[in-house]
Amino acid sequence: PQRRSNFMSRIKVGIMGGTFDPIHFGHLVVAEEAYTSLNLSEIIFVPTGDPPHKSFKNITPAEDRYIMTCMAIVDNPHFKISKIEIEREGPSYTIDTLREMRHWYLPKEAEFFFITGIDAVLQIPTWKEPFAIAQLAHIVAASRPGYDISQLESLPEEIKRAVIPLEIPLLAISSTEIRRRVAAGQSIRYFLPWTVEHYIYKKTLYTLEGR
Ligand code: ATP
Ligand code: MG
Repeated sequence: PQRRSNFMSRIKVGIMGGTFDPIHFGHLVVAEEAYTSLNLSEIIFVPTGDPPHKSFKNITPAEDRYIMTCMAIVDNPHFKISKIEIEREGPSYTIDTLREMRHWYLPKEAEFFFITGIDAVLQIPTWKEPFAIAQLAHIVAASRPGYDISQLESLPEEIKRAVIPLEIPLLAISSTEIRRRVAAGQSIRYFLPWTVEHYIYKKTLYTLEGR
């Protein structure tokens, strides 16, 4: 990471966590809007390793999700990717990731912006050490179809004070819908970068044979 002296403004690091199974234009729009609206320095995409809240589901191997995420961000100079959660043993907890990433920067050098959709923000109280997350990072809550900014009011005060609501052009795209469409033999064109689409077909992901 870049180093800057204390006299200059702090680096504003956007952290975009997700299962990315697969990554799609919803994720990319959220990240780009956060980058421009909040004047961030860079966005680091962090694919989950073994996600604690999805462990009951069939998840695509981390290596495939990592490759798809790489392909989706490669043409954007301020998008980066980290294997920090993939390489860590055991379930991925956001608080562990934030604490580890703190060591990448000098004290007070960087300010963290953890970027999520409203649906994910509403889940944060169920995550490991939610109040510590809110102390280590601003929590950017991007609008998502089916969720209302007013729902953020229900969050505990300790989390709410860290939340920055972000209105983005709504895209009703989800990885679940993409997986459903692939399994049903329906088109996913224009839902995600074509490189990722072709990778899905090449590896026969999300089909019965691919499982
Ligand atoms: P799944 O359907 O498997 O849960 P997903 O589309 O929700 O997949 P995730 O990897 O779960 O994707 O989401 C990563 C982050 O991106 C979450 O914070 C989620 O809220 C956000 N996100 C995903 N899709 C959108 C979208 N279309 N608009 C806004 N935020 C989104
Ligand atoms: Mg999701």
